[in-house]
Amino acid sequence: MTVRLRFAPSPTGRLHLGNIRTALVNWLYARKAGGELLLRIDDTDAERSKPEHAAAIEADLTWLGLGWDQFARQSDRMARYAEVVAGLKSAGRLYPCFESPEELELKRKLALSRGRPPIYDRAALKLSAAEIAALTAQGIAPAWRFKLEPGAIRWHDLIRGDVHFEAEHLSDPVLVRPDGVPVYMLASVVDDLDFAVSHVIRGEDHVANTAVQIQLFETLGGPVPVFGHFSLIADAAGEKLSKRAGASSIEDLRADGVEAMAILSLLAKLGTSDPIELRPDLATLVAEFDIAKFGRNRPKLDMAELDLLNAKLMHALPYAAVSSRLPAGATEAFWLAVRANLTRGSDAGDWWQVVTGPVTPLIDEPEFIAAAAALLPPEPFDATTWSSWTAAVKAATGRKGKDLFLPLRHALTGRGHGPELATLLPLIGRERAMARMGGGVA
Ligand code: GLU
Repeated sequence: MTVRLRFAPSPTGRLHLGNIRTALVNWLYARKAGGELLLRIDDTDAERSKPEHAAAIEADLTWLGLGWDQFARQSDRMARYAEVVAGLKSAGRLYPCFESPEELELKRKLALSRGRPPIYDRAALKLSAAEIAALTAQGIAPAWRFKLEPGAIRWHDLIRGDVHFEAEHLSDPVLVRPDGVPVYMLASVVDDLDFAVSHVIRGEDHVANTAVQIQLFETLGGPVPVFGHFSLIADAAGEKLSKRAGASSIEDLRADGVEAMAILSLLAKLGTSDPIELRPDLATLVAEFDIAKFGRNRPKLDMAELDLLNAKLMHALPYAAVSSRLPAGATEAFWLAVRANLTRGSDAGDWWQVVTGPVTPLIDEPEFIAAAAALLPPEPFDATTWSSWTAAVKAATGRKGKDLFLPLRHALTGRGHGPELATLLPLIGRERAMARMGGGVA
């Protein structure tokens, strides 16, 4: 039997680190098992789904190197869902419910206030044929709920071990909305059956859905896939991921110069027993992947950790890998000079400005800087210019160490830290260096 997994995003926004983790774990599982991955666009909700989000999801996955073997879009499969719905209705497993959302909310609150679980009370099951006909005649369109069979629902979860639900503690789920549109809960099971999905791996927010879906798989006569639910990521403070801490989109991270392998190295190991380290490529992540390494604790995502991985990656990145993303005119010499000082690729722009200006110099001691400027050798500058110049300044002023170097760095770059001045000075050039040491913005 082919091992087949799927990544099934709803195209209601851009992918963020949370859903990329789902994509990556499924991708790694499929590759490790020599199986296949289906990319399924869950767009049954036409109001919230946007084709441009679906296109962006494909672009983001491609950029990350997470390809897929098969593709499906739920909006293309409505006729198939309608067929399944008709079958469930004739088998008596779907029943019409006429409550408005407000009524349902009231019922929910009443149940809670009486200390009962807020599950649907199946009032609609008691409607007589005449009552249903009367409601329909009033033009009220029903939602259709799936009648769960009482009893235990069990599965062995790849991550959570033995899981057990009592169907009596679950609400009969709505499978068809009053406007006739089937919902995710049904569409997902039909697709998993039709595409022969063998393993469903997703976040723990779907655990209760799994209980319901297992009954659906059984009712539809298909094999029940293997399930695995990993813990959702929390931010560094242990809270749900927010925009600031990790919910930033892949698009934004990419635009900011965060490299795919930094993101993948972090997400592949988050919540596992492996250390989080920069890994060289996806093949290494496949080799190291084992679903058994995932624990049940909530992993914390620290954006500082992502930046550390990215910085490490940047420091070894060759010019050819970044040249198209650098500011116009930035040379290999520039890249090699600054890459060790970068956290994100976008930081290169700051150093490019230090090189080409304008820079507002910091002149701490004008007399010292004037003395140094008088000793600046003529062009051409090369890798030795800095050491020969500062040796001359040292001889003339008696300064050494920080007292010698920091005022020069302040004057030449307007900053207190940065790449080696030996490499920066030839890039800055004599004209700008002189202007800055004279206190001018250049
Ligand atoms: N579209 C669903 C989601 O994004 C898919 C869940 C599933 O994997 O079944 O949550």
